[in-house]
Amino acid sequence: MYKAKAYSVSSPTSPFTRTTIERRDPTPHDVQIEILFCGICHSDLHQARNEWSGMPTIYPCVPGHEIVGRVTKVGTAVTNFRPGDLAGVGCLVDSDGTCPSCRGHYEQFCPNAVYTYNSPDKNTGKVTYGGYSDSIVVDERFALRIPKNLDLAGAAPLLCAGITTWSPLRRQGVGKGKKVGIVGLGGLGHMGVKLARGLGAHVAVFTTSPAKTEDALRLGAHEVVVSKDANAMAKQAGTFDMILDTVSAVHDLDPYLHALKRDGNLTLVGAPDQPHAVSAFGLIFGNKSLSGSLIGGIQATQEMLDFCGEHGITADVEIIPIQKVNEAYDRLLRSDVKYRFSIDMASLKAE
Ligand code: NAP
Ligand code: ZN
Repeated sequence: MYKAKAYSVSSPTSPFTRTTIERRDPTPHDVQIEILFCGICHSDLHQARNEWSGMPTIYPCVPGHEIVGRVTKVGTAVTNFRPGDLAGVGCLVDSDGTCPSCRGHYEQFCPNAVYTYNSPDKNTGKVTYGGYSDSIVVDERFALRIPKNLDLAGAAPLLCAGITTWSPLRRQGVGKGKKVGIVGLGGLGHMGVKLARGLGAHVAVFTTSPAKTEDALRLGAHEVVVSKDANAMAKQAGTFDMILDTVSAVHDLDPYLHALKRDGNLTLVGAPDQPHAVSAFGLIFGNKSLSGSLIGGIQATQEMLDFCGEHGITADVEIIPIQKVNEAYDRLLRSDVKYRFSIDMASLKAE
């Protein structure tokens, strides 16, 4: 074991403070990564504040699952990484590798999946600690290759916001000739816009923030619909092949079902703890479907990263020192971030 610097919360209402955590020394299949940047996902906030009744938070909690860094050490059996390589870690750090989900490249649904933070950690007997830290140790199967041409601060959010939007867009066959809506222009939403545009679709953003219109167009949207404007929403009726909903709070889904074409699909990735009300008529008139999607498997994550490398896609980030993480959470809750916070971990090393 060795000691790593980190920022943790000790209760749902306490601020982040500096702490020291124990990490394992790399075992034969592990890589040790010096963390350079870590994105702040809204899931970090849900978890730090214990907002998910189905996934209670174990304190102290060190969130962070949008990790990019440099390999500092590798175990004797590691074949894919060498010291000095860039590496990324997303939401997963282990799985059994043998169950049907693992064999189908859906490690996120493995009954023995270990999440990057707040999961039981068999190595330490505690829980896993995430990327708000100066280093992390993971099995090389869960370390991703980061294309060399990408800006690292902007690449970090690809490890969650990128794969979470990529995976349902691909599943629904989004591409040329398809009209796609992205609901909520936050961390996930702005990646959804860039990826759907990169895949060749016609992209519309639904936002509650009219002030984000210009940005949405700059990020790649062809059109912007202010979702509070009932007339603007009505004009979109029956026109979308797919809508991807990234909103972090409960809201009315019916206007989006209404905007779908026959056989259209609304996929939820936003994860508020409270249930959404859904009208049966909104679904049955038009054979529409409502589905959900959870991050993505390791193979799909690498495919997304390679696509981003080829298309020069990264997140638009506000780089912050870790000392500003409490302020960043307050701003995230007010939808006041353009469009992802990325923590520069040099600020932690300097402490
Ligand atoms: P975020 O940056 O805070 O973005 C959420 C956006 O939703 C906001 O920017 C805002 O966009 C809109 N919004 C917020 N409150 C709203 C309200 N009350 N009514 C309508 N719109 C509202 O969050 P994020 O990091 O993208 O994460 C979004 C959600 O996805 C979170 O719940 C997170 O836990 C979840 N998530 C799920 C997965 C998965 O695997 N399924 C993975 C990662 C994250 P506008 O200002 O444009 O309206
Ligand atoms: Zn996330």
